[in-house]
Amino acid sequence: MLGRMTTLADDTQDTYDVVVLGGGAAGLNGALVLARSRRSVLVVDAGTPRNGPAAGVHGLLGHDGVPPAELLQRGREEVHRYGGTVVRGEVTAVHRADDGFVVTRADGGSVRARRLLVASGLVDELPDIPGLRDRFGHDVLHCPYCHGWEARDRAIGVLAAGPHSVHQALLFRQLSADVTYFTHTAPPLTDGELEQLAARGIGVVGGEVVALETTGDRLTGIRLADGAVVAREVLAVGPRMVAQARFLDVLGLRPVEHPSGRGVHIPTDSTGRTDVRGVWAAGNVTDLGAQVGAAAAAGAFAAAQINLDLVTDDTQAAVRARRAVREDAASAR
Ligand SMILES: Cc1cc2nc3c(=O)[nH]c(=O)nc-3n(C[C@H](O)[C@H](O)[C@H](O)COP(=O)(O)OP(=O)(O)OC[C@H]3O[C@@H](n4cnc5c(N)ncnc54)[C@H](O)[C@@H]3O)c2cc1C
Repeated sequence: MLGRMTTLADDTQDTYDVVVLGGGAAGLNGALVLARSRRSVLVVDAGTPRNGPAAGVHGLLGHDGVPPAELLQRGREEVHRYGGTVVRGEVTAVHRADDGFVVTRADGGSVRARRLLVASGLVDELPDIPGLRDRFGHDVLHCPYCHGWEARDRAIGVLAAGPHSVHQALLFRQLSADVTYFTHTAPPLTDGELEQLAARGIGVVGGEVVALETTGDRLTGIRLADGAVVAREVLAVGPRMVAQARFLDVLGLRPVEHPSGRGVHIPTDSTGRTDVRGVWAAGNVTDLGAQVGAAAAAGAFAAAQINLDLVTDDTQAAVRARRAVREDAASAR
């Protein structure tokens, strides 16, 4: 159910104070703050939140376990209540025009905006192992804080998939005593890493992982290239996280490597301001590690900064207009 997700035909204005690109936690919370500040705001959302496959949002105070779609539906209702508009659509390009921007959608439609809030999230690039993507968010997991409790005391595998995989194994060990580390195609473990894993009772299995074994809709094992199958109920992987922001290319705003080495992001300052004047970013598109609460908070904070920027502009314009009237009156005398 889409809730208050209107159709494109309902998107009647040509120009908005702010267009929000992406309607997940970051974008909707930003839109809520802007709408409550009496800003005209349009959210364009492709409808594919990162946590879409998960059954519930965990670790979010007051909402623990709420289905992701339900949380966003409530968010859209709240934005709508204050006069904001949320439409389903995909932004394909953003151009600068006069003092603001033109936002173009895949359907060819476009709107103008004085400011932009980019909240389009990221894509999790997963290891190319048959069946793995289909199980992501169910029993293939990436985040011990999102689903660790649900995986407690289970037979957990950790697939070496990046520079942080040992760290990930140690975090999952906090949740279960039965953790096995699969070296897969990663570079050899250092002596220090082997010592840490051994000290925490984490077994290490060498060899390439070629498939996931399932029974019904449950993960049951990890198949190796030599044919051996290691029984596991859960597999943890560390995806490479890639900001979704190709539509910013024309503005010269491109994702860059994140300092953590976990992927690429759109850099911002501490207020969410990007290097391009008039463009803010919030949530996973800039902060790869943000969970729902952090993404929502960043969207709200960036929205307040955008509102302040517009208030400053509006005040300067009003001062200029007032001076012009006075000068005209003076010259008419
Ligand atoms: C499987 C899984 C489970 C998770 N579980 C939890 C959990 O339990 N608790 C928790 O706190 N966090 C969890 N997370 C993390 C959570 O998904 C993120 O913190 C959150 O989604 C970030 O919000 P966001 O608004 O930045 O991005 P998103 O929620 O991804 O929203 C971005 C939105 O932008 C839209 N978009 C993208 N490109 C365009 C475009 N060109 N035009 C228009 N719209 C566009 C997308 O369709 C999407 O709707 C989980 C993540 C995964 C992968």
